[in-house]
Amino acid sequence: MKYFVFADFDGTISTEDVGYNLLTHFSTVDNSDLSELWMTRQIGARECLQIEAERFRATHSEVIEFVDKFEIDPVFPSFVEYLRSKDIPLVILSDGFDLYIKRFLKNHSLDGIELITNSGRIIGNRLEVDFPHDGGCGKCGACKSELIREIVKRENFEGKIVFAGDGFSDICAIDEANILFAKNYLRTYCQEENIPHLPFDSFDDIGKALFDDWPPARRRSGASK
Ligand SMILES: [Zn+2]
Repeated sequence: MKYFVFADFDGTISTEDVGYNLLTHFSTVDNSDLSELWMTRQIGARECLQIEAERFRATHSEVIEFVDKFEIDPVFPSFVEYLRSKDIPLVILSDGFDLYIKRFLKNHSLDGIELITNSGRIIGNRLEVDFPHDGGCGKCGACKSELIREIVKRENFEGKIVFAGDGFSDICAIDEANILFAKNYLRTYCQEENIPHLPFDSFDDIGKALFDDWPPARRRSGASK
């Protein structure tokens, strides 16, 4: 079976939602008004991120210090290594932004993975966001539906599209995935909408579900739960 794996970042590769926590922690005002508007689709992620960025104040070093506290799914690095050994492509799709995701991946020596996301940079103590991948549904900053279609076309890929995600921004990816792994909010959504999916808690569950020879021999057992 040929696979192309797409994975969300926040809460999927990182154990917690780094972007949400970052924007909440350094916001000059309470952002709870936005969560409500976003979850009820009155505003899209792009608009939400723009407002959050306007409310944000932190220096680059404060951001780095904050991001460095977050943890990775402990199985993800060996999952990446396994995919490489089998020539299975992996792309990270995120509706967060590159500033903290790149830092996080670099911390774990995973910065070689293709990442498609929104762009964010700190100028002084302000956050500037930009949306270089704003096609698709018009609501997302980086629409995962459109991005998966583009990448599959670019790579001339024929086979099964695997997607793993946990949140609201992953809903756009559902229709593109042949095999959908869902946790947290995305899992609840799939259950409520009767969308076929495989529940997962860590990349160990994904490895087990996809590959007969998982786990890779070198990995210690019992690291998943
Ligand atoms: Zn979308």
